Amino acid sequence: MQLLKKFIRYYKPYRAVFFLDLVCALAVSLVDLAFPQILSILTKTFFTEQPDVIISGLLKLGVALFLMYVIRTLCRFYITYQGHVMGAKMESDMRQDLFDQYERFSFSYYDRSNTGEMMSKLVSDLFDISELAHHGPENIFISAVKIIGSFVLLLMVNVPLTLILSAVVVVMVVFSLYQNRKMQETFMDNRRKIAAVNASLQDSLAGIRVVKSFANEEIERRKFETSNQQFLVSKESNYLRMGIFHSGNNFFEGMLFLTVLVAGGYFIARGTLSATDLAVYALYINIFINPIEVLIEFTELLQKGISGFRRFTEVMETVPEIQDAPDAKELTNVKGTIDYKDVSFRYNDEESVLEHINVHVDAGRSVALVGPSGGGKTTLCSLLPRFYDVTGGSVCIDGQDVRTLTQESLRSAIGIVQQDVYLFGGSIQENIAYGKPGASMEEIIEAAKEANIHDFILSLPDGYDTYVGERGARLSGGQKQRISIARVFLKNPPMLILDEATSALDNESEQYIQNSLDKLAHGRTTITIAHRLSTIRNADEIIVIDNDGIRERGTHDDLLAKDGLYAKYYQMQFRNN
Ligand code: ADP
Ligand code: MG
Repeated sequence: MQLLKKFIRYYKPYRAVFFLDLVCALAVSLVDLAFPQILSILTKTFFTEQPDVIISGLLKLGVALFLMYVIRTLCRFYITYQGHVMGAKMESDMRQDLFDQYERFSFSYYDRSNTGEMMSKLVSDLFDISELAHHGPENIFISAVKIIGSFVLLLMVNVPLTLILSAVVVVMVVFSLYQNRKMQETFMDNRRKIAAVNASLQDSLAGIRVVKSFANEEIERRKFETSNQQFLVSKESNYLRMGIFHSGNNFFEGMLFLTVLVAGGYFIARGTLSATDLAVYALYINIFINPIEVLIEFTELLQKGISGFRRFTEVMETVPEIQDAPDAKELTNVKGTIDYKDVSFRYNDEESVLEHINVHVDAGRSVALVGPSGGGKTTLCSLLPRFYDVTGGSVCIDGQDVRTLTQESLRSAIGIVQQDVYLFGGSIQENIAYGKPGASMEEIIEAAKEANIHDFILSLPDGYDTYVGERGARLSGGQKQRISIARVFLKNPPMLILDEATSALDNESEQYIQNSLDKLAHGRTTITIAHRLSTIRNADEIIVIDNDGIRERGTHDDLLAKDGLYAKYYQMQFRNN
Protein backbone atom coordinates (compact mmCIF):
# COMPACT_ATOMS: atom_id res chain seq x y z
CA MET A 1 0.00 0.00 0.00
CA GLN A 2 2.81 2.33 0.95
CA LEU A 3 4.40 1.32 -2.32
CA LEU A 4 1.24 2.04 -4.28
CA LYS A 5 1.04 5.51 -2.77
CA LYS A 6 4.59 6.27 -3.84
CA PHE A 7 3.77 4.95 -7.27
CA ILE A 8 0.69 7.09 -7.64
CA ARG A 9 2.77 10.15 -6.83
CA TYR A 10 4.45 9.78 -10.19
CA TYR A 11 1.09 9.96 -11.97
CA LYS A 12 0.30 13.31 -10.44
CA PRO A 13 1.74 15.63 -13.09
CA TYR A 14 -0.08 13.64 -15.76
CA ARG A 15 -3.50 13.35 -14.12
CA ALA A 16 -5.37 14.77 -17.09
CA VAL A 17 -3.73 12.51 -19.64
CA PHE A 18 -4.22 9.54 -17.37
CA PHE A 19 -7.91 10.28 -16.94
CA LEU A 20 -8.45 10.71 -20.66
CA ASP A 21 -6.53 7.50 -21.25
CA LEU A 22 -8.99 5.62 -19.05
CA VAL A 23 -11.98 7.27 -20.71
CA CYS A 24 -10.63 6.17 -24.08
CA ALA A 25 -10.07 2.68 -22.74
CA LEU A 26 -13.68 2.58 -21.61
CA ALA A 27 -14.92 3.80 -24.99
CA VAL A 28 -12.89 1.16 -26.82
CA SER A 29 -14.30 -1.62 -24.64
CA LEU A 30 -17.87 -0.39 -25.05
CA VAL A 31 -17.59 -0.22 -28.82
CA ASP A 32 -16.19 -3.74 -28.89
CA LEU A 33 -19.00 -4.98 -26.70
CA ALA A 34 -21.66 -3.27 -28.79
CA PHE A 35 -20.76 -4.81 -32.11
CA PRO A 36 -22.25 -8.32 -31.65
CA GLN A 37 -25.27 -6.69 -30.04
CA ILE A 38 -25.87 -4.64 -33.18
CA LEU A 39 -25.39 -7.69 -35.31
CA SER A 40 -28.00 -9.50 -33.29
CA ILE A 41 -30.50 -6.64 -33.65
CA LEU A 42 -29.75 -6.52 -37.33
CA THR A 43 -30.46 -10.16 -37.94
CA LYS A 44 -33.38 -10.43 -35.58
CA THR A 45 -35.43 -7.33 -36.39
CA PHE A 46 -34.41 -5.99 -39.77
CA PHE A 47 -34.87 -9.09 -41.80
CA THR A 48 -38.41 -9.47 -40.73
CA GLU A 49 -39.25 -6.00 -42.20
CA GLN A 50 -39.98 -4.73 -45.75
CA PRO A 51 -36.95 -4.20 -48.04
CA ASP A 52 -37.24 -0.35 -48.08
CA VAL A 53 -37.39 -0.25 -44.29
CA ILE A 54 -34.36 -2.49 -44.19
CA ILE A 55 -32.43 -0.21 -46.52
CA SER A 56 -33.12 2.99 -44.62
CA GLY A 57 -32.37 1.15 -41.38
CA LEU A 58 -29.13 -0.15 -42.83
CA LEU A 59 -28.10 3.39 -43.77
CA LYS A 60 -28.68 4.65 -40.24
CA LEU A 61 -26.88 1.66 -38.87
CA GLY A 62 -23.98 2.21 -41.27
CA VAL A 63 -23.60 5.80 -40.12
CA ALA A 64 -23.81 4.78 -36.47
CA LEU A 65 -21.23 2.02 -36.93
CA PHE A 66 -18.98 4.35 -38.85
CA LEU A 67 -19.08 6.90 -36.02
CA MET A 68 -18.40 4.18 -33.48
CA TYR A 69 -15.38 3.00 -35.37
CA VAL A 70 -14.08 6.51 -35.81
CA ILE A 71 -14.39 7.07 -32.08
CA ARG A 72 -12.68 3.76 -31.38
CA THR A 73 -9.86 4.61 -33.76
CA LEU A 74 -9.32 8.01 -32.17
CA CYS A 75 -9.37 6.47 -28.71
CA ARG A 76 -6.91 3.75 -29.71
CA PHE A 77 -4.67 6.39 -31.20
CA TYR A 78 -4.79 8.41 -28.02
CA ILE A 79 -4.02 5.39 -25.86
CA THR A 80 -1.12 4.22 -27.97
CA TYR A 81 0.34 7.67 -28.46
CA GLN A 82 -0.34 9.73 -25.35
CA GLY A 83 -0.55 6.72 -23.05
CA HIS A 84 2.94 5.63 -24.04
CA VAL A 85 4.23 9.17 -23.88
CA MET A 86 2.87 9.42 -20.35
CA GLY A 87 4.64 6.17 -19.43
CA ALA A 88 7.85 7.46 -20.97
CA LYS A 89 7.57 10.75 -19.09
CA MET A 90 7.03 8.97 -15.80
CA GLU A 91 9.99 6.75 -16.57
CA SER A 92 12.08 9.79 -17.36
CA ASP A 93 11.01 11.47 -14.08
CA MET A 94 11.98 8.37 -12.15
CA ARG A 95 15.26 8.04 -14.00
CA GLN A 96 16.14 11.63 -13.18
CA ASP A 97 15.22 11.09 -9.53
CA LEU A 98 17.34 7.98 -9.40
CA PHE A 99 20.29 9.69 -11.04
CA ASP A 100 20.06 12.63 -8.64
CA GLN A 101 19.97 10.15 -5.79
CA TYR A 102 23.04 8.34 -7.13
CA GLU A 103 24.87 11.65 -7.23
CA ARG A 104 23.97 12.27 -3.60
CA PHE A 105 25.46 9.04 -2.34
CA SER A 106 28.82 9.18 -0.63
CA PHE A 107 31.94 7.17 -1.31
CA SER A 108 30.98 4.40 1.09
CA TYR A 109 27.90 3.59 -0.99
CA TYR A 110 30.02 3.19 -4.10
CA ASP A 111 32.51 1.04 -2.18
CA ARG A 112 29.65 -1.39 -1.57
CA SER A 113 27.85 -1.20 -4.90
CA ASN A 114 28.29 -2.68 -8.28
CA THR A 115 28.12 -0.15 -11.10
CA GLY A 116 26.65 -2.72 -13.48
CA GLU A 117 23.74 -3.25 -11.11
CA MET A 118 23.23 0.46 -10.67
CA MET A 119 23.09 0.87 -14.43
CA SER A 120 20.60 -1.93 -14.82
CA LYS A 121 18.37 -0.21 -12.26
CA LEU A 122 18.45 2.87 -14.42
CA VAL A 123 17.62 0.96 -17.56
CA SER A 124 15.68 -2.30 -17.23
CA ASP A 125 13.97 -1.83 -13.88
CA LEU A 126 12.64 1.52 -14.92
CA PHE A 127 11.47 0.16 -18.24
CA ASP A 128 9.46 -2.52 -16.43
CA ILE A 129 8.01 0.14 -14.19
CA SER A 130 6.96 2.43 -16.98
CA GLU A 131 5.39 -0.44 -18.92
CA LEU A 132 3.35 -1.19 -15.85
CA ALA A 133 2.58 2.46 -15.20
CA HIS A 134 1.15 2.93 -18.61
CA HIS A 135 -0.39 -0.43 -19.49
CA GLY A 136 -1.40 -1.41 -15.97
CA PRO A 137 -4.46 0.69 -15.20
CA GLU A 138 -5.65 0.72 -18.79
CA ASN A 139 -5.27 -3.05 -19.19
CA ILE A 140 -7.01 -3.86 -15.98
CA PHE A 141 -9.77 -1.43 -16.80
CA ILE A 142 -10.39 -2.52 -20.39
CA SER A 143 -10.20 -6.18 -19.44
CA ALA A 144 -12.52 -5.85 -16.49
CA VAL A 145 -15.15 -4.02 -18.54
CA LYS A 146 -14.90 -6.53 -21.34
CA ILE A 147 -14.91 -9.64 -19.18
CA ILE A 148 -17.79 -8.56 -17.02
CA GLY A 149 -19.72 -7.04 -19.90
CA SER A 150 -19.40 -10.00 -22.20
CA PHE A 151 -20.08 -12.47 -19.42
CA VAL A 152 -23.36 -10.73 -18.60
CA LEU A 153 -24.25 -10.65 -22.28
CA LEU A 154 -23.37 -14.33 -22.64
CA LEU A 155 -25.61 -15.15 -19.70
CA MET A 156 -28.39 -13.10 -21.23
CA VAL A 157 -28.17 -15.11 -24.42
CA ASN A 158 -28.09 -18.52 -22.79
CA VAL A 159 -27.41 -19.59 -19.22
CA PRO A 160 -26.65 -23.34 -19.55
CA LEU A 161 -24.29 -22.77 -22.45
CA THR A 162 -22.44 -20.11 -20.47
CA LEU A 163 -22.00 -22.46 -17.51
CA ILE A 164 -20.49 -25.14 -19.75
CA LEU A 165 -18.28 -22.50 -21.32
CA SER A 166 -17.12 -21.26 -17.90
CA ALA A 167 -15.96 -24.74 -16.94
CA VAL A 168 -13.69 -24.91 -20.00
CA VAL A 169 -12.43 -21.38 -19.35
CA VAL A 170 -11.41 -22.30 -15.80
CA VAL A 171 -9.28 -25.17 -17.09
CA MET A 172 -7.75 -22.88 -19.65
CA VAL A 173 -6.89 -20.19 -17.11
CA VAL A 174 -5.19 -22.69 -14.82
CA PHE A 175 -3.14 -24.06 -17.71
CA SER A 176 -2.20 -20.59 -18.96
CA LEU A 177 -1.19 -19.23 -15.59
CA TYR A 178 1.08 -22.20 -15.01
CA GLN A 179 2.65 -22.11 -18.47
CA ASN A 180 3.03 -18.37 -18.34
CA ARG A 181 4.91 -18.60 -15.04
CA LYS A 182 7.27 -21.17 -16.60
CA MET A 183 7.74 -19.00 -19.65
CA GLN A 184 8.50 -15.91 -17.56
CA GLU A 185 11.09 -17.85 -15.57
CA THR A 186 12.90 -18.50 -18.81
CA PHE A 187 12.61 -14.81 -19.67
CA MET A 188 14.28 -13.90 -16.38
CA ASP A 189 16.98 -16.44 -17.05
CA ASN A 190 17.44 -14.87 -20.48
CA ARG A 191 17.99 -11.50 -18.90
CA ARG A 192 20.58 -12.81 -16.50
CA LYS A 193 22.41 -14.59 -19.31
CA ILE A 194 22.46 -11.56 -21.58
CA ALA A 195 23.68 -9.46 -18.66
CA ALA A 196 26.53 -11.95 -18.29
CA VAL A 197 27.32 -11.66 -21.99
CA ASN A 198 27.37 -7.87 -21.68
CA ALA A 199 29.51 -7.96 -18.56
CA SER A 200 31.99 -10.26 -20.23
CA LEU A 201 32.10 -8.04 -23.30
CA GLN A 202 32.50 -4.88 -21.30
CA ASP A 203 35.22 -6.36 -19.11
CA SER A 204 37.19 -7.59 -22.12
CA LEU A 205 36.85 -4.32 -23.99
CA ALA A 206 37.72 -2.15 -21.00
CA GLY A 207 40.77 -4.31 -20.34
CA ILE A 208 41.68 -4.82 -23.99
CA ARG A 209 45.14 -3.33 -23.54
CA VAL A 210 45.90 -5.80 -20.76
CA VAL A 211 44.42 -8.67 -22.78
CA LYS A 212 46.68 -7.86 -25.70
CA SER A 213 49.77 -7.30 -23.64
CA PHE A 214 49.41 -10.78 -22.18
CA ALA A 215 48.37 -12.14 -25.58
CA ASN A 216 45.36 -13.65 -23.84
CA GLU A 217 42.83 -13.16 -26.63
CA GLU A 218 42.14 -16.89 -26.70
CA ILE A 219 41.24 -17.00 -23.01
CA GLU A 220 38.93 -14.02 -23.43
CA ARG A 221 37.42 -15.60 -26.50
CA ARG A 222 36.62 -18.74 -24.58
CA LYS A 223 35.16 -16.81 -21.65
CA PHE A 224 32.95 -14.94 -24.07
CA GLU A 225 32.02 -18.07 -25.97
CA THR A 226 30.87 -19.73 -22.74
CA SER A 227 28.52 -16.92 -21.78
CA ASN A 228 27.36 -16.58 -25.35
CA GLN A 229 26.54 -20.30 -25.49
CA GLN A 230 24.70 -20.18 -22.18
CA PHE A 231 22.61 -17.35 -23.52
CA LEU A 232 21.72 -19.42 -26.56
CA VAL A 233 20.71 -22.41 -24.43
CA SER A 234 18.57 -20.15 -22.32
CA LYS A 235 16.94 -18.69 -25.43
CA GLU A 236 16.15 -22.18 -26.67
CA SER A 237 14.31 -23.14 -23.53
CA ASN A 238 12.58 -19.79 -23.63
CA TYR A 239 11.25 -20.46 -27.11
CA LEU A 240 10.18 -23.95 -26.09
CA ARG A 241 8.09 -22.43 -23.29
CA MET A 242 6.71 -19.78 -25.58
CA GLY A 243 5.72 -22.48 -28.03
CA ILE A 244 3.89 -24.47 -25.36
CA PHE A 245 2.19 -21.39 -23.99
CA HIS A 246 0.91 -19.96 -27.25
CA SER A 247 -0.04 -23.19 -28.97
CA GLY A 248 -1.65 -24.42 -25.72
CA ASN A 249 -3.77 -21.30 -25.52
CA ASN A 250 -4.70 -21.76 -29.12
CA PHE A 251 -5.76 -25.33 -28.48
CA PHE A 252 -8.00 -24.25 -25.63
CA GLU A 253 -9.58 -21.55 -27.75
CA GLY A 254 -10.38 -24.25 -30.28
CA MET A 255 -11.86 -26.40 -27.54
CA LEU A 256 -14.03 -23.49 -26.44
CA PHE A 257 -15.52 -23.12 -29.88
CA LEU A 258 -15.89 -26.84 -30.22
CA THR A 259 -17.77 -27.05 -26.92
CA VAL A 260 -19.98 -24.13 -27.80
CA LEU A 261 -20.77 -25.49 -31.26
CA VAL A 262 -21.56 -28.99 -30.06
CA ALA A 263 -23.48 -27.90 -26.98
CA GLY A 264 -25.12 -25.05 -28.89
CA GLY A 265 -26.05 -27.37 -31.71
CA TYR A 266 -27.64 -29.65 -29.17
CA PHE A 267 -29.61 -26.75 -27.69
CA ILE A 268 -30.71 -25.67 -31.14
CA ALA A 269 -31.85 -29.19 -31.91
CA ARG A 270 -33.79 -29.13 -28.64
CA GLY A 271 -35.28 -25.77 -29.67
CA THR A 272 -33.94 -23.80 -26.68
CA LEU A 273 -31.53 -21.66 -28.74
CA SER A 274 -31.86 -19.86 -32.07
CA ALA A 275 -29.16 -20.01 -34.76
CA THR A 276 -28.69 -16.20 -34.62
CA ASP A 277 -28.13 -16.39 -30.89
CA LEU A 278 -25.47 -19.01 -31.39
CA ALA A 279 -23.66 -16.78 -33.90
CA VAL A 280 -23.80 -13.80 -31.55
CA TYR A 281 -22.68 -16.05 -28.75
CA ALA A 282 -19.62 -17.16 -30.69
CA LEU A 283 -18.70 -13.54 -31.29
CA TYR A 284 -18.90 -12.75 -27.57
CA ILE A 285 -16.64 -15.65 -26.73
CA ASN A 286 -13.78 -13.84 -28.40
CA ILE A 287 -14.48 -10.66 -26.51
CA PHE A 288 -14.62 -12.71 -23.33
CA ILE A 289 -11.44 -14.73 -23.91
CA ASN A 290 -9.09 -12.05 -25.19
CA PRO A 291 -9.00 -9.92 -22.05
CA ILE A 292 -8.56 -13.04 -19.93
CA GLU A 293 -5.44 -13.87 -21.92
CA VAL A 294 -4.28 -10.28 -21.66
CA LEU A 295 -4.69 -10.37 -17.88
CA ILE A 296 -2.76 -13.62 -17.63
CA GLU A 297 0.18 -12.18 -19.48
CA PHE A 298 -0.25 -9.04 -17.47
CA THR A 299 0.27 -10.80 -14.12
CA GLU A 300 3.97 -11.07 -14.93
CA LEU A 301 4.28 -7.50 -16.08
CA LEU A 302 2.66 -6.58 -12.82
CA GLN A 303 5.12 -8.61 -10.79
CA LYS A 304 8.14 -7.34 -12.69
CA GLY A 305 6.91 -3.78 -12.40
CA ILE A 306 6.26 -4.09 -8.69
CA SER A 307 9.60 -5.68 -7.90
CA GLY A 308 11.32 -3.11 -10.11
CA PHE A 309 9.57 -0.31 -8.29
CA ARG A 310 10.43 -1.86 -4.95
CA ARG A 311 14.12 -1.86 -5.88
CA PHE A 312 13.73 1.69 -7.08
CA THR A 313 12.19 2.90 -3.81
CA GLU A 314 14.85 1.03 -1.86
CA VAL A 315 17.51 3.14 -3.53
CA MET A 316 15.45 6.31 -3.26
CA GLU A 317 15.02 5.76 0.46
CA THR A 318 18.63 4.97 1.24
CA VAL A 319 19.88 7.94 3.17
CA PRO A 320 23.28 9.13 1.93
CA GLU A 321 25.72 8.62 4.77
CA ILE A 322 27.25 12.02 4.37
CA GLN A 323 24.85 14.91 4.19
CA ASP A 324 24.95 18.58 4.98
CA ALA A 325 23.89 19.30 8.53
CA PRO A 326 20.56 21.17 8.62
CA ASP A 327 22.36 24.26 9.87
CA ALA A 328 25.47 23.77 7.72
CA LYS A 329 27.48 26.93 7.09
CA GLU A 330 29.30 28.05 3.99
CA LEU A 331 33.06 27.89 4.27
CA THR A 332 34.07 31.43 3.34
CA ASN A 333 37.24 33.55 3.48
CA VAL A 334 39.26 30.40 3.73
CA LYS A 335 42.71 30.76 5.16
CA GLY A 336 43.36 27.04 5.05
CA THR A 337 44.47 26.02 8.51
CA ILE A 338 43.98 22.28 8.82
CA ASP A 339 43.58 20.37 12.08
CA TYR A 340 43.12 16.67 12.60
CA LYS A 341 42.20 16.34 16.26
CA ASP A 342 42.52 12.89 17.76
CA VAL A 343 41.11 11.38 14.58
CA SER A 344 40.14 7.72 14.38
CA PHE A 345 38.64 6.05 11.36
CA ARG A 346 37.47 2.65 10.20
CA TYR A 347 35.86 1.67 6.91
CA ASN A 348 34.02 -1.21 8.50
CA ASP A 349 33.66 -2.96 11.81
CA GLU A 350 36.53 -5.30 11.17
CA GLU A 351 39.64 -3.21 11.48
CA SER A 352 40.47 0.33 12.27
CA VAL A 353 42.64 2.20 9.79
CA LEU A 354 43.50 5.30 11.79
CA GLU A 355 43.66 5.80 15.53
CA HIS A 356 44.10 8.99 17.50
CA ILE A 357 45.86 10.93 14.79
CA ASN A 358 46.79 14.55 15.39
CA VAL A 359 48.02 16.73 12.55
CA HIS A 360 48.17 20.48 12.37
CA VAL A 361 49.02 22.45 9.24
CA ASP A 362 49.16 26.24 9.32
CA ALA A 363 47.58 28.13 6.47
CA GLY A 364 49.83 28.14 3.43
CA ARG A 365 52.18 25.55 4.93
CA SER A 366 52.83 22.00 3.82
CA VAL A 367 52.88 18.59 5.38
CA ALA A 368 54.07 15.41 3.74
CA LEU A 369 52.91 11.89 4.52
CA VAL A 370 55.23 8.99 3.86
CA GLY A 371 55.09 5.32 4.68
CA PRO A 372 54.34 1.90 3.31
CA SER A 373 51.40 1.27 1.03
CA GLY A 374 48.23 0.50 2.97
CA GLY A 375 49.34 2.61 5.92
CA GLY A 376 46.32 4.89 5.67
CA LYS A 377 47.73 7.98 3.95
CA THR A 378 45.03 8.26 1.30
CA THR A 379 42.40 7.51 3.91
CA LEU A 380 43.67 10.33 6.11
CA CYS A 381 43.44 12.76 3.19
CA SER A 382 39.94 11.67 2.19
CA LEU A 383 38.64 12.78 5.57
CA LEU A 384 39.41 16.43 4.80
CA PRO A 385 36.87 16.85 1.93
CA ARG A 386 34.53 14.59 3.92
CA PHE A 387 34.57 11.74 1.43
CA TYR A 388 34.19 9.74 4.62
CA ASP A 389 33.33 10.91 8.11
CA VAL A 390 35.70 10.32 11.00
CA THR A 391 34.60 7.68 13.47
CA GLY A 392 36.35 9.51 16.29
CA GLY A 393 37.78 12.99 16.87
CA SER A 394 37.32 15.74 14.30
CA VAL A 395 38.80 17.38 11.23
CA CYS A 396 38.74 21.17 11.21
CA ILE A 397 39.45 23.89 8.68
CA ASP A 398 40.13 27.32 10.12
CA GLY A 399 38.84 25.96 13.42
CA GLN A 400 35.50 24.76 11.98
CA ASP A 401 34.59 21.09 12.03
CA VAL A 402 34.14 19.99 8.40
CA ARG A 403 30.88 18.32 9.42
CA THR A 404 29.37 21.73 10.14
CA LEU A 405 30.12 23.05 6.64
CA THR A 406 28.24 22.59 3.40
CA GLN A 407 29.90 19.93 1.29
CA GLU A 408 29.88 22.19 -1.71
CA SER A 409 31.77 25.07 -0.10
CA LEU A 410 34.10 22.61 1.63
CA ARG A 411 35.00 20.73 -1.53
CA SER A 412 35.41 23.81 -3.64
CA ALA A 413 38.12 24.92 -1.19
CA ILE A 414 40.16 21.74 -1.75
CA GLY A 415 42.05 20.70 -4.88
CA ILE A 416 43.07 17.08 -5.32
CA VAL A 417 45.67 15.64 -7.65
CA GLN A 418 45.85 11.86 -7.61
CA GLN A 419 47.87 9.15 -9.23
CA ASP A 420 44.92 8.01 -11.34
CA VAL A 421 43.54 10.73 -13.53
CA TYR A 422 40.02 10.49 -14.78
CA LEU A 423 39.32 12.40 -17.96
CA PHE A 424 35.79 12.57 -19.27
CA GLY A 425 35.03 11.81 -22.91
CA GLY A 426 35.26 15.22 -24.60
CA SER A 427 37.81 17.81 -25.62
CA ILE A 428 40.89 18.93 -23.72
CA GLN A 429 39.29 22.29 -23.21
CA GLU A 430 36.19 20.73 -21.64
CA ASN A 431 38.31 18.57 -19.40
CA ILE A 432 40.30 21.50 -18.05
CA ALA A 433 37.16 23.59 -17.65
CA TYR A 434 35.84 20.87 -15.34
CA GLY A 435 37.85 22.64 -12.64
CA LYS A 436 35.69 25.73 -12.97
CA PRO A 437 32.49 25.36 -14.96
CA GLY A 438 31.93 28.39 -17.14
CA ALA A 439 35.60 29.42 -17.21
CA SER A 440 36.63 31.67 -20.08
CA MET A 441 39.05 30.51 -22.77
CA GLU A 442 41.70 32.92 -21.41
CA GLU A 443 41.44 31.35 -17.97
CA ILE A 444 41.71 27.86 -19.43
CA ILE A 445 44.81 28.77 -21.43
CA GLU A 446 46.35 30.48 -18.41
CA ALA A 447 45.80 27.32 -16.33
CA ALA A 448 47.24 25.15 -19.09
CA LYS A 449 50.33 27.34 -19.22
CA GLU A 450 50.84 27.04 -15.48
CA ALA A 451 50.50 23.29 -15.74
CA ASN A 452 53.16 23.24 -18.50
CA ILE A 453 50.85 21.75 -21.07
CA HIS A 454 49.86 24.72 -23.21
CA ASP A 455 52.61 24.16 -25.78
CA PHE A 456 51.80 20.51 -26.10
CA ILE A 457 48.11 21.27 -26.63
CA LEU A 458 48.95 23.80 -29.36
CA SER A 459 51.08 21.19 -31.12
CA LEU A 460 48.00 18.98 -31.58
CA PRO A 461 46.14 19.38 -34.87
CA ASP A 462 42.91 20.35 -33.12
CA GLY A 463 44.55 22.21 -30.25
CA TYR A 464 42.22 22.71 -27.31
CA ASP A 465 39.41 20.99 -29.21
CA THR A 466 41.30 17.70 -29.38
CA TYR A 467 39.15 14.81 -28.29
CA VAL A 468 40.89 12.98 -25.44
CA GLY A 469 39.39 9.55 -26.12
CA GLU A 470 37.57 7.42 -23.60
CA ARG A 471 39.16 8.02 -20.19
CA GLY A 472 41.86 9.99 -21.98
CA ALA A 473 43.16 6.95 -23.88
CA ARG A 474 44.77 9.14 -26.51
CA LEU A 475 47.09 10.87 -24.07
CA SER A 476 50.16 9.73 -22.18
CA GLY A 477 50.14 9.42 -18.39
CA GLY A 478 52.14 12.61 -18.00
CA GLN A 479 49.86 14.55 -20.35
CA LYS A 480 46.77 13.41 -18.51
CA GLN A 481 48.33 14.35 -15.21
CA ARG A 482 49.15 17.83 -16.49
CA ILE A 483 45.56 18.29 -17.63
CA SER A 484 44.39 17.32 -14.18
CA ILE A 485 46.84 19.83 -12.68
CA ALA A 486 45.53 22.52 -15.03
CA ARG A 487 42.07 21.74 -13.71
CA VAL A 488 43.21 22.46 -10.18
CA PHE A 489 45.03 25.66 -11.24
CA LEU A 490 41.75 26.79 -12.73
CA LYS A 491 39.83 25.85 -9.61
CA ASN A 492 42.36 27.77 -7.55
CA PRO A 493 41.55 26.29 -4.13
CA PRO A 494 43.29 27.42 -0.93
CA MET A 495 44.03 23.82 0.10
CA LEU A 496 45.64 21.00 -1.83
CA ILE A 497 45.95 17.25 -1.57
CA LEU A 498 48.62 15.70 -3.76
CA ASP A 499 48.26 11.93 -3.51
CA GLU A 500 51.25 10.29 -5.19
CA ALA A 501 50.61 12.55 -8.14
CA THR A 502 53.84 11.60 -9.89
CA SER A 503 54.22 7.97 -8.85
CA ALA A 504 52.99 6.49 -12.09
CA LEU A 505 55.25 8.60 -14.26
CA ASP A 506 58.70 8.11 -15.72
CA ASN A 507 61.57 10.17 -14.33
CA GLU A 508 61.49 12.82 -17.01
CA SER A 509 57.78 13.57 -16.82
CA GLU A 510 58.07 13.40 -13.08
CA GLN A 511 60.60 16.20 -13.04
CA TYR A 512 58.46 18.23 -15.35
CA ILE A 513 55.31 17.71 -13.37
CA GLN A 514 57.00 18.22 -10.06
CA ASN A 515 57.78 21.76 -11.21
CA SER A 516 54.13 22.51 -11.91
CA LEU A 517 53.10 20.90 -8.64
CA ASP A 518 55.55 23.08 -6.73
CA LYS A 519 54.11 26.10 -8.49
CA LEU A 520 50.59 24.91 -7.69
CA ALA A 521 51.42 24.37 -4.01
CA HIS A 522 52.86 27.82 -3.65
CA GLY A 523 50.81 29.81 -1.15
CA ARG A 524 48.32 26.98 -0.52
CA THR A 525 47.99 24.66 2.43
CA THR A 526 49.23 21.38 1.03
CA ILE A 527 49.14 17.76 2.11
CA THR A 528 51.49 15.74 -0.06
CA ILE A 529 51.67 11.99 -0.13
CA ALA A 530 55.00 11.18 -1.61
CA HIS A 531 56.43 8.09 -3.02
CA ARG A 532 59.77 9.62 -3.93
CA LEU A 533 61.20 11.32 -0.90
CA SER A 534 63.32 13.76 -2.89
CA THR A 535 60.14 15.70 -3.68
CA ILE A 536 59.19 16.48 -0.10
CA ARG A 537 62.50 17.58 1.33
CA ASN A 538 61.18 21.10 1.80
CA ALA A 539 57.92 20.20 3.50
CA ASP A 540 57.32 22.03 6.76
CA GLU A 541 56.58 18.75 8.45
CA ILE A 542 57.08 15.18 7.36
CA ILE A 543 54.96 12.49 8.99
CA VAL A 544 55.88 8.83 8.74
CA ILE A 545 52.76 6.74 9.03
CA ASP A 546 52.21 2.99 8.85
CA ASN A 547 49.76 0.41 10.12
CA ASP A 548 50.69 1.25 13.70
CA GLY A 549 49.91 4.93 13.23
CA ILE A 550 52.29 7.88 13.25
CA ARG A 551 55.82 6.65 13.78
CA GLU A 552 57.92 9.75 13.32
CA ARG A 553 57.43 13.41 12.56
CA GLY A 554 59.60 16.45 11.98
CA THR A 555 61.45 18.29 9.22
CA HIS A 556 63.63 16.49 6.74
CA ASP A 557 66.76 17.46 8.67
CA ASP A 558 65.26 16.50 12.04
CA LEU A 559 64.31 13.08 10.76
CA LEU A 560 67.64 12.43 9.11
CA ALA A 561 69.41 13.41 12.30
CA LYS A 562 67.14 11.07 14.23
CA ASP A 563 68.35 8.24 12.02
CA GLY A 564 65.06 6.33 12.30
CA LEU A 565 62.57 4.97 9.78
CA TYR A 566 62.58 8.02 7.54
CA ALA A 567 66.36 8.05 7.39
CA LYS A 568 66.27 4.41 6.42
CA TYR A 569 63.72 4.98 3.60
CA TYR A 570 65.66 7.97 2.42
CA GLN A 571 68.98 6.19 2.24
CA MET A 572 67.38 3.29 0.46
CA GLN A 573 66.02 5.53 -2.27
CA PHE A 574 69.13 7.60 -2.44
CA ARG A 575 71.18 4.51 -3.09
CA ASN A 576 68.82 3.31 -5.81
CA ASN A 577 68.80 6.56 -7.70
P1 ADP B 1 47.81 4.24 1.64
O1 ADP B 1 47.25 5.41 0.92
O2 ADP B 1 48.71 4.62 2.77
O3 ADP B 1 48.46 3.26 0.74
P2 ADP B 1 45.07 3.62 2.19
O4 ADP B 1 44.57 4.79 2.95
O5 ADP B 1 44.71 3.57 0.75
O6 ADP B 1 46.62 3.47 2.36
O7 ADP B 1 44.53 2.30 2.86
C1 ADP B 1 44.60 2.07 4.24
C2 ADP B 1 43.85 0.80 4.58
O8 ADP B 1 42.47 0.98 4.40
C3 ADP B 1 44.26 -0.40 3.75
O9 ADP B 1 44.31 -1.51 4.60
C4 ADP B 1 43.14 -0.55 2.75
O10 ADP B 1 42.94 -1.89 2.43
C5 ADP B 1 41.96 0.00 3.51
N1 ADP B 1 41.02 0.67 2.60
C6 ADP B 1 41.31 1.68 1.73
N2 ADP B 1 40.21 2.10 1.07
C7 ADP B 1 39.19 1.34 1.52
C8 ADP B 1 37.80 1.27 1.24
N3 ADP B 1 37.22 2.10 0.35
N4 ADP B 1 37.05 0.38 1.89
C9 ADP B 1 37.61 -0.45 2.80
N5 ADP B 1 38.90 -0.46 3.11
C10 ADP B 1 39.72 0.41 2.50
MG1 MG C 1 47.29 5.75 -1.15
